[in-house]
Amino acid sequence: MKKYLLLLMTLFSLSVQAQDFEQFFSDSTLRLDYIFAGDVNQQYIYVDQLSKSHRWYGRRHRLAELPLAGNGQITVFDKMTGIVIYRHSFSTLFQEWLATDEAKHTKKSFENVFLIPYPQQPVRIKVELRDYHDKVTAELVHEVDPKDILIRQLQRKKEAPYITLQQAADTTCCIHIAYVAEGYTAEQMDQYLDDCHVAMEALFEHEPFKTLRNRFNVIALCSPSHDSDVSQPGKGIWRNTALASHFDTFYMTRYLTTLHLKQLHDWLAGTPYEHIIVLANTAHYGGGGIYNSYNLSYTRGKHFRPVVVHEFGHSFGGLGDEYPYGDSDPMYFADTEPWEPNLTTTTKNPAKWQNLIDAGKAGLIEGGGYLSKGVWRGQEDCRMRTNEHPDFCPVCQQALTKLINFYTVR
Ligand SMILES: [Zn+2]
Repeated sequence: MKKYLLLLMTLFSLSVQAQDFEQFFSDSTLRLDYIFAGDVNQQYIYVDQLSKSHRWYGRRHRLAELPLAGNGQITVFDKMTGIVIYRHSFSTLFQEWLATDEAKHTKKSFENVFLIPYPQQPVRIKVELRDYHDKVTAELVHEVDPKDILIRQLQRKKEAPYITLQQAADTTCCIHIAYVAEGYTAEQMDQYLDDCHVAMEALFEHEPFKTLRNRFNVIALCSPSHDSDVSQPGKGIWRNTALASHFDTFYMTRYLTTLHLKQLHDWLAGTPYEHIIVLANTAHYGGGGIYNSYNLSYTRGKHFRPVVVHEFGHSFGGLGDEYPYGDSDPMYFADTEPWEPNLTTTTKNPAKWQNLIDAGKAGLIEGGGYLSKGVWRGQEDCRMRTNEHPDFCPVCQQALTKLINFYTVR
């Protein structure tokens, strides 16, 4: 009797793995705002606010699978049955900050925003953060009743129209990219749209994006700033911009980010978006990209094109940097294989990209992930290593293809 019950339960859970999106979700988005707080010793996750917008622009298949492991994960359980009905992964600036000196003596908080499909029935949501040894360091579980009257209904911002730069072949099963303007005044929107076109064409010159171009839907959100250009704290310059971004993130000159994730998503509310590319109207070199969060790139310089594609490699592809940098504060260790598909900390056979090594298309080259020793990449040069190299290496291309298929093949 028990055996049959077990068999029945197994069949039941298998069938739910292959369920239809419509069984658990409606065509709307539940936006989850969290505060991640703490210091190097202890981290906490708090619910900030929940909101709803019409339509869901993420995937509608392989819902219970992760695209990559990431530095954090969100898991949605159907409350009644306990079945996993959606999973996603991400990285955060908060976790990067934990590696800084400031995190050794100061407790700080960071905004984070995640989007999940809007559940039809009450759900339990688990958010967890992992350290560089893949150990869970903070966890929050909370319940959401989709009928909760305090879930805010989000409206489109009328002062920020958007235009479609490219429509995907199948808009019901594609990857939605949104460009957002940062440091462009209302009068500079034509310049911004030109920059969006340059950034988009730069991306689609790179394989595998080139071949799979029609899987992408691309919009440009015209979010005007009061001031032109962005803040440069190192020079004492603060500007009033749409996303309040600035250079000198964590006191690193070239690191351009915004800590205002809620503001970013407020601008985008109601538009078709999932992957976010912020274009910053500045001639000061720099950028940043955070996996499944957003990326930001400078635009007014000769490296604009490679930088905006490189940062998308981080924010969309979860690719790691393939260059060494200082050898201090390591993020990669011999005892933990990195989740980034283009870096490995072991040379044992089979290698992470053994199929490409066997085909003579890649090797194991030491140096990467900001370290000169103990981390290996697949090829001498790559878009994830230098601005001069013209394309992604075979290891990155293979990983990107796999990810694009994850999102777009039903
Ligand atoms: Zn690469």
